[in-house]
Amino acid sequence: MIRQIVLADQPILRKKLRPVKTFDDGLSSLVADMIDTMTFANGAGLAANQIGVDAQIFVTGIGPKPQVFINPKLKIIFSRRDLLEEGCLSVPGYRGPVHRPTTVEITYDNLKGVRRKQIVRGYLARVLQHEYDHLQGKLYIDHIKEKKQIEAVEPIRVAFFGSGEFAVPILVSLLGLLNWTFDFLTVGVVTQPARPAGRKQELTPTPIYRVAEKFGVKVLTPEKLDQKFMTEFKKWKVDLIVLSDYHKLLPAELLQLPRYGGVNVHPSLLPKYRWSAPIQNAILNGDRQTGVTLMQMNEKLDQGGIIAQYKLPIDSRDTYVTLSGKLSQVGAQMIRDNLYYYASGKIKVAPQKESEVTTAPMLGSNAGEIKATDTPAQIVRKVRALNPNPGVYTNWNGKRVKILAAHLEGRKLALDQLQIEGGKPLSWKDFKNGYPEFKLP
Ligand code: ZN
Repeated sequence: MIRQIVLADQPILRKKLRPVKTFDDGLSSLVADMIDTMTFANGAGLAANQIGVDAQIFVTGIGPKPQVFINPKLKIIFSRRDLLEEGCLSVPGYRGPVHRPTTVEITYDNLKGVRRKQIVRGYLARVLQHEYDHLQGKLYIDHIKEKKQIEAVEPIRVAFFGSGEFAVPILVSLLGLLNWTFDFLTVGVVTQPARPAGRKQELTPTPIYRVAEKFGVKVLTPEKLDQKFMTEFKKWKVDLIVLSDYHKLLPAELLQLPRYGGVNVHPSLLPKYRWSAPIQNAILNGDRQTGVTLMQMNEKLDQGGIIAQYKLPIDSRDTYVTLSGKLSQVGAQMIRDNLYYYASGKIKVAPQKESEVTTAPMLGSNAGEIKATDTPAQIVRKVRALNPNPGVYTNWNGKRVKILAAHLEGRKLALDQLQIEGGKPLSWKDFKNGYPEFKLP
């Protein structure tokens, strides 16, 4: 659970914290909350008092996975120091240069209360010292003698364009970026208007609209990106557009407004699978690998230069729903890792190779119809790629039968879950009992 971060004026950030004596489930869930909060805020580390808890615990987010340090003791191994800019989640909006030793030895308890020892160098050594200071009631700004060296960081003003579920973790990751060094500030969200959905055809806002509302970010839902919209948008004074799963192309006039232009998070390894259905097509084609591309936007769909690409294997059991969920988490990570470097001009953008372009056009409502010529492997891929939308089906006895789940047994097709028009989803066994003559074409 993400918790509120305590700011520097609170007394709990200025006292020496109490040692941890009980190693129980309460401790584990506190540490889990600390990791969630640190990850959300894109922090390199977080101490317990930064979420208001008086206990000698900190977590770090550098390296392959988060680490927890309980009741730590630090020893400086070499006196050699280096100088780097630091920021702090509890002092948002500022940065300043701090001298710190480059190598330290840390002894600490792990979550089970077992004492451990590590020698740490480089950036992680700096993070350990910054967090260890927090446990003593100290802040990095205390190390800076000349206070004019503490600079206010002008945030880059971001507008997010997105609509679908895929874009949700990406927007959340973007909102978190404002807390770390205040490099990015999401000033507004643009999403598709509410549309009728569900059995009752009630007007339903997009998943992105709900996130914007929850975090209190301004949101616009224009039907068209026309002059009336542009007038409103200009008031946000946007420096950078981030877009994912918006369902509409942005006009050149709009992309030219922000000084850093626009970037798009696209769920394929571009130039493979441009356009709107890359995830479904990767599964339908039996690909073993896909990924996410962060690219520069131009007025043409998915044709801009590549900023970064992360790969992801496709599991043979992945469905559109599971793969889409994994890819959107990858996209969120890409935003955290790359946006700052992109805006500082430190990333070389590579053009897409035109000779390797493939496209993934939107799938029609009958893309999921089972054909007599489909092999068992093709049917299983359709079932994995095209549920829940547009859905996989066959027409039998004048009724539509949906195939919701299936797998291969050797080379044979094994059906798992079916649903006849007007009925409930049934396991294959129950379906077979109810409709013994049912056969695929
Ligand atoms: Zn800090």
